[in-house]
Amino acid sequence: MTRSAIQLSRLLDELESLYGPPHPSWPTDPYLFLVWWHCGYPASDIACAKGWASLTKSVGTTPEKLLATSPEKLAAALKPGGMVPELRAQRLKEIAMRVKDHLDGDLRSALTGPLDKARKELKKFPNIGDPGVDRILLFAHIAPIAAVPSNSPHVLVRILLGRERENYGVNYREAQTAIESQTPAAFDARTRAYLLLKQHAQQTCKRTNPRCDCCPISTSCAFFSGKLRGRPAPASN
Ligand code: SF4
Repeated sequence: MTRSAIQLSRLLDELESLYGPPHPSWPTDPYLFLVWWHCGYPASDIACAKGWASLTKSVGTTPEKLLATSPEKLAAALKPGGMVPELRAQRLKEIAMRVKDHLDGDLRSALTGPLDKARKELKKFPNIGDPGVDRILLFAHIAPIAAVPSNSPHVLVRILLGRERENYGVNYREAQTAIESQTPAAFDARTRAYLLLKQHAQQTCKRTNPRCDCCPISTSCAFFSGKLRGRPAPASN
């Protein structure tokens, strides 16, 4: 095991000691995840959970139920999840229609087989880019992809390299490469890394104002070392 591999493994152990064993707070079935993802806007675990609770109570989540419900009623059910409920209602109908009419009501089965085909299929759904595809395939136990939380690729880049890049795509790839090379290609290991990094970003290593002074892994963090020296650590590209 390389020095950096030991470092990431130890960092994840320290984060788990702080936050406890992680569990996903969203449905892991691919179709239900797509529904949940559109239950809140701006999408966050809290907003989506509120919209999801309201939708499951007043409408349901099957394609048939979503398609049989009027746009107005669907939008009212999604309102607790935040902004643009009318647009999210329309998106849910598109998702339901695609799954029912094109995939015989079974998205999961459509994702089996070559990974490229599964990625292409998922990207046909609204608001699903590469990070969303990675997350769905990992948590549905379809492929143990080194998924990175879409709102926090900066965490690992800060810790390992010192400073996040300007470009979101470069940050994502840097973080993904680190997870890929330093965790076993197994569902448990990669879902654990995803969830712990996500939680660390939400609670401590915030995007615009990281709470380095109370961070339990600051002594292992290149970004923090740079701050102590009075200058940001250099980005490598
Ligand atoms: S020390 Fe600061 S930058 Fe480093 S992981 Fe902790 S919060 Fe993030």
